[in-house]
Amino acid sequence: MANGGTSDMLQWPSNVFVKVTSHVDGNLALHTGDNPIEVNANRKRLGSGLPDTAVWLRQVHGTEVVQIATGWTGEATADASYSQLQDTPLAILVADCLPAVIASVDGREIAAVHAGWRGLADGILHRVVSTFESSSLVAYLGPCIGPCHYEVDAKVRDRMTDQERGTGFAVSRDDHWNMDLQQIARDQLEGRGVAIERADDRCTACSALSGGKEQLYSHRLASKKGTVEIRRFAVLVWRQAPGKPGARSCPG
Ligand SMILES: [Zn+2]
Repeated sequence: MANGGTSDMLQWPSNVFVKVTSHVDGNLALHTGDNPIEVNANRKRLGSGLPDTAVWLRQVHGTEVVQIATGWTGEATADASYSQLQDTPLAILVADCLPAVIASVDGREIAAVHAGWRGLADGILHRVVSTFESSSLVAYLGPCIGPCHYEVDAKVRDRMTDQERGTGFAVSRDDHWNMDLQQIARDQLEGRGVAIERADDRCTACSALSGGKEQLYSHRLASKKGTVEIRRFAVLVWRQAPGKPGARSCPG
């Protein structure tokens, strides 16, 4: 997803690329009990379409933002990564939580964020926005569990602000609500002056139900079926160096 000249991507920097993986790319999570040999093979295959090795995080539903600079090695425990490096993809693993990408309009800074309800309640998006030097920012919201499949109780809803309770929840039954993660992220980002350039409105559970090669993984859908979803798809973002061939733009 460079802006590609599309009219709905007015401010997206042309050097910033986003990729969303799917079933086709296989499970990309090493922490969920899947065979690591298979996961590493999936990561390697994905890597052949990327400018360099991706930075993967140990995600813990926290609010830590790790800054990726020259000489970075290893893995960080964090739920967001920020970088000014070129050709270094930042990766977020999800299977219902919201993956978000933020970029400065000048294309010099990028961040990838893992935001479930806890992260949103605890302010991870605000922390990421505060990490940027530029105040002119745009965001992409990736596919997550939609309100059609995401019911929460008062314990979750009470953690949100009054405004978020108004816009991000709809009553489903007694003391239960359908929660809209993307809407809450939108409220938080727009409240900080960040323009949402694109939102992928696919619901991960609807997608997993629909089957097919391009389907996404859904933790909640699998849990409902009585199994544990050990697979995760990824959203990756990178700043492409000028003149470097081989990168692909984001589908959708
Ligand atoms: Zn759904």
